[in-house]
Amino acid sequence: MPTPIPVVFEAVAPLRNQVRAWREGGDTIVLVPTMGALHEGHRALVAYAKTLGRRVVASIFVNPTQFGPTEDFSRYPRDVDADLAALAEAGADAAYVPTAETMYPEGFASRIELDGPSEGLCGDFRPGHFSGVATVVTKLINQAQPDIALFGEKDFQQLQVIRRVTRDLDMPVSIAGLPTLREADGLALSSRNRYLSAVERAVAPRLHAALEGIAKNLAAGGEAGPLLAEGLETLEAAGFGPVQYLAVRDAETLSPVTRVERPARVLVAAYLGRTRLIDNVAVAPGS
Ligand code: AMP
Repeated sequence: MPTPIPVVFEAVAPLRNQVRAWREGGDTIVLVPTMGALHEGHRALVAYAKTLGRRVVASIFVNPTQFGPTEDFSRYPRDVDADLAALAEAGADAAYVPTAETMYPEGFASRIELDGPSEGLCGDFRPGHFSGVATVVTKLINQAQPDIALFGEKDFQQLQVIRRVTRDLDMPVSIAGLPTLREADGLALSSRNRYLSAVERAVAPRLHAALEGIAKNLAAGGEAGPLLAEGLETLEAAGFGPVQYLAVRDAETLSPVTRVERPARVLVAAYLGRTRLIDNVAVAPGS
């Protein structure tokens, strides 16, 4: 028998009523925001969310305000029926699928302005992106009122921006992160991987391999500058381009790092054909 589809909410009031009822029953509520086109990585997020709290609400909303004018908003993959089935299988209790009108009603005029971890990296190449993300995530948290909101480390800068925003704005929610789920060959799972041709798909895992190589040398005491220059050459030779950034940053503040003395991260964004891929790996000093 197929797993039942989780209850679907499209409006704020019924969602809040359900969350309130669960909370009154003593349950902890975990929100997992997504843009749909769900893959194993999202399923793992929902499964992990189930270990953090009794009730999991997964939201599906392709947020127009985090896409630039030349980005893939209109062609971003959408398949709500498949997504609901995936959420059911992963154990979500409810899906929140708000309409554009619920999220951005006529007259909507507010946006969160950011400094700190939103600066540099994707922030340099996607103006307004993190402001759009921070605003929509704040709205989703205010709407669902979860105890915990869970995000993937795949979007590491996003995770750190959200940690900062929720702390700075005194939002009564804990933010949790889950390490990136990967294909067996190392490619980070992403809704955008379906854009890759067969040839590009064969090249794509070299992004992660390059990050791992840099992280290993940094952990052994290497200096970021030459390692990144060599990594960039390797990526370009493999067929990536343009490489928007390849950088080593402090894992919390995302400020630049030359030698790794505290937990750090190697992060990359690079085009492979028409597809923009991002990835990152951890570097632990002295490991
Ligand atoms: P998206 O639908 O791409 O906005 O992603 C929704 C959530 O899933 C975000 O918190 C992402 O970081 C997370 N996510 C996406 N891909 C992965 C992955 N491969 N592993 C873990 N989390 C992921």
